Amino acid sequence: MTMKKAAVLILVGLFIINLNVYGSSAGKKVKNIILMVPDGTPISTIVAARIYAYGPGKERLHLETLEQIGYQSTHSRNSIITDSAAAASAWACGQKFNNKEISFHRETKEAPKTILELAKEMGKGTGLVATSTITHATPAAFGAHVFSRKCEKTIAKQFITTTGVDVLLGGGLSNFKSTEMQKDFCGTWGNFITLAEENNYKVVYNREEMLKAVGEKKLLGLFCPGCMTPVYKKEVMDPKNREPGLPEMTRTALSILEQNNKGFFLMVEGSQVDWANHQNNLIYQIGETLEFDRAVKVVLDWVEDKESRRENTLIIVVSDHGCGGFAIKGPYGKTFDKPGEYIEDGWVSKSHTGEDTMIWSQGPYSEHLGKAIDNTDIFHIMKAALTGDVYKHP
Ligand SMILES: [Zn+2]
Repeated sequence: MTMKKAAVLILVGLFIINLNVYGSSAGKKVKNIILMVPDGTPISTIVAARIYAYGPGKERLHLETLEQIGYQSTHSRNSIITDSAAAASAWACGQKFNNKEISFHRETKEAPKTILELAKEMGKGTGLVATSTITHATPAAFGAHVFSRKCEKTIAKQFITTTGVDVLLGGGLSNFKSTEMQKDFCGTWGNFITLAEENNYKVVYNREEMLKAVGEKKLLGLFCPGCMTPVYKKEVMDPKNREPGLPEMTRTALSILEQNNKGFFLMVEGSQVDWANHQNNLIYQIGETLEFDRAVKVVLDWVEDKESRRENTLIIVVSDHGCGGFAIKGPYGKTFDKPGEYIEDGWVSKSHTGEDTMIWSQGPYSEHLGKAIDNTDIFHIMKAALTGDVYKHP
């Protein structure tokens, strides 16, 4: 080997080592982004669900198996304690918003483009899935711009007509079909089901119809007038419930969005962990957390199914804020020897709390999420992932 050849080999070797140390994401565009949100879920909620599901051993929830772990600050523009509107708008647009604002600054009337809209401009598929009304604050912030989260009928109309989100699955039928008497906080009302059908949506109302709609290009699934039945009530009170679960909605959304060869942006929300924590209801909380984790399993199975999906998909699991001041208060001086046991719960509030929340992630660009960051940074990391730009921490 000549000296010249040896020098070239050493340089190539150093370049490869460099890629491994600093991550190989820069310059690589990510095809799919899946953002999964257990709403109002502090780390203590994850631990309580894990102990219930597996006992206090080494086994982990599916969401805990993602490769990168970091955490984010959650405060909004005008409050240490955020609401879901400002928190989701921060992820969607990369800016701080006041509580109640949906990707819209009320003072300046500015409506920055959301990550979902950027993905759409790139020709990607887009989807929103939730167990609240689909027009609730978290999904709303990705596909609508309005000064108040209370304008759910306005949000419904924007989803269908302005943004054209391809897949919308959740509760909230009443926001898509209303009379003038039922107009929202912004004065909006009307039949947006007809509007959806005119805009080429297949509209479905129950689990069976949804499962048959997998070949559709655009799907609007509204499974109840308001919010979907909590898991713990569904199991005990109503065996004939015709609503799909969050894992099935997630699988359906993936099967529609994966048809787009340019990829997609999908947001999946386990909306009601937050409401369980508002109610200080441990059984409700654990039911919703484990249901959300089953939806994470659906996503992980989908990704693992093909090498190309694994290489081209950024998965982020992050909660928007704490809620309830939930603590594992006990048992002290006693342990559990098997799954199925409830810890002793302690609560300090019926509202949101201001601690940081965990971020679990994997895939290209996830190396930037395994740190202490701000909620607005998540937008900039997702945007860099879509465009293939270098991401630099502020
Ligand atoms: Zn809440």
